[in-house]
Amino acid sequence: MREHADVVIIGAGIVGCAAAYHLTRMGCTDVLVVEQGSLFAAGGSTSHAPGLMFQLNSSRLVCTLAQQSVALYGSLAVEGQPCFLPVGSIEIATTEDRWRDLKRKAGWGKSWGVEAHLISAQEAARMVPLLRADRVLGAIHVPSDGLAAGVPVSEAMARAAMGRGAGFEERTTVTGIEIERGRVRAVLTDRGRVATERVLVCAGIWGPAIGRMAGVSIPLIPVQHQYVRTAPLPQLAGETGVSHPILRHQDRSMYFRQHGECYGIGSYGHEPLLVEVDRIPHQGEAPVMPSMLPFTADDFAPAMDAAVDLLPALRGIGLRDAFNGMFSFTPDGQSLLGESIDVSGFWVAEAVWVTHAGGVGKLIAEWMVEGLPSLDTREADLNRFHGHVATPTYTRARGAQQYREVYDIIHPLQQLEHPRGLRRGPFNQRQEALGAVFFEGAGWERPQWYGANQPLVSSVNQPRREGWTARYWSPIAAAEHQAARERVALFDLTAFTKLEVSGPGALAFLEKLASNRMDQPLGKVTYTAMLNQRGGIQCDLTVTRLGEDRFWVLTGGGVGMHDLAWLRSHVPEDGSARITNLSSAYCCLGLWGPRARAVLSRVCEDDLGNAAFPYFGARRLAVGPVPVLALRVSYVGELGWELYAPTEYGQFLWDLLWEAGTDMGITAAGGAAFESLRLEKGYRLWGQDIHTDYTPLEAGLGFAVRVGKGEFLGREAVIRQKEAGITRKLCPITLDDPERVVMGKEPILDGNRVLGYVTSAAYGHTIGRGIAYGYLPLSHAGEGTPLTIEFFGERLAATVAREPLYDPEGARLKG
Ligand code: FAD
Repeated sequence: MREHADVVIIGAGIVGCAAAYHLTRMGCTDVLVVEQGSLFAAGGSTSHAPGLMFQLNSSRLVCTLAQQSVALYGSLAVEGQPCFLPVGSIEIATTEDRWRDLKRKAGWGKSWGVEAHLISAQEAARMVPLLRADRVLGAIHVPSDGLAAGVPVSEAMARAAMGRGAGFEERTTVTGIEIERGRVRAVLTDRGRVATERVLVCAGIWGPAIGRMAGVSIPLIPVQHQYVRTAPLPQLAGETGVSHPILRHQDRSMYFRQHGECYGIGSYGHEPLLVEVDRIPHQGEAPVMPSMLPFTADDFAPAMDAAVDLLPALRGIGLRDAFNGMFSFTPDGQSLLGESIDVSGFWVAEAVWVTHAGGVGKLIAEWMVEGLPSLDTREADLNRFHGHVATPTYTRARGAQQYREVYDIIHPLQQLEHPRGLRRGPFNQRQEALGAVFFEGAGWERPQWYGANQPLVSSVNQPRREGWTARYWSPIAAAEHQAARERVALFDLTAFTKLEVSGPGALAFLEKLASNRMDQPLGKVTYTAMLNQRGGIQCDLTVTRLGEDRFWVLTGGGVGMHDLAWLRSHVPEDGSARITNLSSAYCCLGLWGPRARAVLSRVCEDDLGNAAFPYFGARRLAVGPVPVLALRVSYVGELGWELYAPTEYGQFLWDLLWEAGTDMGITAAGGAAFESLRLEKGYRLWGQDIHTDYTPLEAGLGFAVRVGKGEFLGREAVIRQKEAGITRKLCPITLDDPERVVMGKEPILDGNRVLGYVTSAAYGHTIGRGIAYGYLPLSHAGEGTPLTIEFFGERLAATVAREPLYDPEGARLKG
């Protein structure tokens, strides 16, 4: 076995093989893959996956990875046998809810570029003749979906990688990772040590055990999943291949595929059967293979009844094989990709399905070889999680819930119910007393609206909401929106991520990363992007200069760990700049609205006038006896402040402001109002409207890029794009019918031509219109351009508008 390799990949399942394939293809050929089992019968999840590939997904990243995998597998063959059968797929609806959801799914097909057709029950039954049409309301057909043979795909990719120089060592178990001063130095195996600077963990359900060897959390839980293969069906007598499309019956959490004369049935219908990583059987000790456990027939019985009901040909048919396989579930259902921020050179590609492995291999190889992946990976970034997610209790609970919901219809605002109440800010008691309805974000309980505001509800500027758009929503949000515009509202912003960057090298460090100028006077708040080498927007945040060598970097709660990882990965090694996460040390209230100054001045003796405290300024204030850092900024477009106080003063601060504002109509307002207020002002949200797939010039954020300030990451790319010109632009769009509203991710069309998709959407209660944002080609970006947005199959007329839709002069902010 080699004693050195540029990259050591742990695991020769489909993910490890895909990574070796793409790394060697990109010129990184000194790759060694170590596998504890036998090559091409390794015993991991790939060895028994039936290989159904459904590409459509609510996540653009996941869908794109599937599209890339379909293209790759379709090009592979082993001994002349193709590795991918493009038999197409059918997902049926047996409930009205599902049928509506399939229409939404067809919209994702347009948004993400996957051909998909809504078809009748009869058409579905023509393609899958075993199907009972009278059970079906309708279906969606994706012609390019199909079946991947997991082991042959892996073998084909491995052989190609071997041909380009990769080594594969079977029956070689990794026993340790050698780390020196935070960097990987070697991989230890039962057959010797391999010196390396980079290890890539593709160990599937064993991933957390490898993570432990390096002190890196890999939050996934193996879950048993049932799959059976029937005895031959008379109706399929003589068939040797696969002629039926793959089939999903999501209303009963199951799927089907043909195996020649037999049928395969997979079920997620049972309660999640979790397996602790240390309890996975070892090679040799397992009955069949390590990632398989004995079949639990009772768990499968309801699924078999549902299968017979849908495909009557299965009645009375015996089972040829039946097993509980294992594969990985993460707390948010997404993969775990990227390099650990804690151990340099420790890379991870975990919790990946066969459906996405080809694309993931490419993505991770790009990241390792070129320093950047070609797709935005925010949803799957290994470093995205807050501390609680790494705990076994949380990973188990949320992993189990992801398993339960894998085929459920998930509303974009739907909340996971357990575990909840993990992170409560100091305003929590007051919020509960006001009847707050809490949504969870990054573990924080955040009010979405307050029941106590029900009496403020009026019918003004309320769209007609029913069905989908009325879920996880309340008309109270409009009343809270109105309070912020007309009086004064109090928003809990405690979940914000607050990072302090300090030290003699702090300014130089931030200048190197930020696109805007950081060398600002003390007490100045600066909005900036941070870009990657290609000019993609990696982070979007505000930076406040509090001292010569001290800055506060503020960003959202959900994206905080992602942004922190970006900063940490660039912090100077000489220790001249330090990053301290102060998120839990400070709470924050947004006090916004035309009466904000009047309320604050009742409890604060400091000068709050425009001259002493201008827009985009930061000052230390005494609010009553509470020491506060106040930032004169607003994400809702009104006069006011973000007030940061040490957390333990929080409740006192809330009470003080509340009392001061009572006769001025102060209103507690939640996340739903916040969203609608910010979209009226056109404020971008990182992760939706902006991320690394887009540049500041495309996103309309050119004002936050100062190419003249000197070197910073992404500057060259911005200059190049300035010279070449942009071809698309983030645009505000309003729905023509003031009664309508969309939710996000819907396709934007000109006739039948798909132009883009909705990045953010809300109802603008002040302007009285549904608002959607989306990137449009310049040909369609002009104000007044008529478009349509497809919403659950319906085409809604819409028009490109001019932004911001509210207070274009910014007079309210500067008032
Ligand atoms: P694995 O295939 O498990 O590979 C990991 C490898 O790492 C193993 O071979 C293991 O031996 C090796 N390894 C672990 N620890 C060590 C160590 N210490 N030293 C050396 N080697 C080590 N996905 C789909 O897309 N479509 C489907 O239809 C589908 N159906 C499924 C049905 C069932 C019943 C199950 C269980 C899963 C199914 N999946 C499906 C999921 C899919 O099988 C997995 O997500 C995928 O195969 C994971 O691939 P992997 O390479 O990450 O893991």
